[in-house]
Amino acid sequence: MAIHEQSLIRPENVRKHERLVLDGIDVSGHWSTFIEPRVVTDYNERLQEEIAALPGGEYIHRCWQCGSCTNSCTVNALNPDFNPRFWIYLIRMGMESELLRDKEIIWQCVSCNKCTYACPRDVFPEGVMKATAHWLELKGHTPPSPSTLFDREFTEQVIETGRIEEGRILRRFFARTGQALRQDWLVEMARRVARRLPLKLAFAMGKATLLRPRTRRWAKARAALTDYVHEREAAHRKALDLDAPRQ
Ligand code: SF4
Ligand code: SF4
Repeated sequence: MAIHEQSLIRPENVRKHERLVLDGIDVSGHWSTFIEPRVVTDYNERLQEEIAALPGGEYIHRCWQCGSCTNSCTVNALNPDFNPRFWIYLIRMGMESELLRDKEIIWQCVSCNKCTYACPRDVFPEGVMKATAHWLELKGHTPPSPSTLFDREFTEQVIETGRIEEGRILRRFFARTGQALRQDWLVEMARRVARRLPLKLAFAMGKATLLRPRTRRWAKARAALTDYVHEREAAHRKALDLDAPRQ
């Protein structure tokens, strides 16, 4: 799985000479491009296993590096540094430190799933991006992304009440991410919805906001969901060896 794209070589590792003559032959500029040799010593041999243990990363081993995911990627079209194929390559090679150099953009996947439909090997690259972003957070390389905070809020509300109350999720998500509740786009959206909302439904929504209704006889389901969430979190921590004593 060798990589031969110059765009993937870090600029500081590329050497070019504006003027260079070797044995009487002018190899100036493009012709004198060299790649600095380097030795990678910090492989994480478990990196693929760790990503595969997280939801979405299960099929990363199937990748044959065709590049269809990157070619079809919505975010790559705007930012060529966003490169799912390259990151899958780094993960499979165990090149953790190289992967970390892009940690600030990996979470930017917009889950459009164009890569998922383009992938001939059913790797589910969108899932791999999610698993990698999750891995970065669990390992403490990045803070929880807004998407993670939203998922937490959503899950907590379902477990607590057995229901979803969109207004409350939105309010608490904004509070968690330090955003003001009064935002122009939100005010406009609320105004448009309110214009078409049947009175009966508006009343039901207002009542739900004030009274926070719960699903009846939810206690057993809540206990089962809580156990399941704790079980999965423990499995993820174990797969990433997060609870092992540090030396
Ligand atoms: S799901 Fe993510 S990685 Fe896949 S094409 Fe969309 S933005 Fe790119
Ligand atoms: S499209 Fe699938 S097989 Fe091809 S590089 Fe992307 S993940 Fe790998």
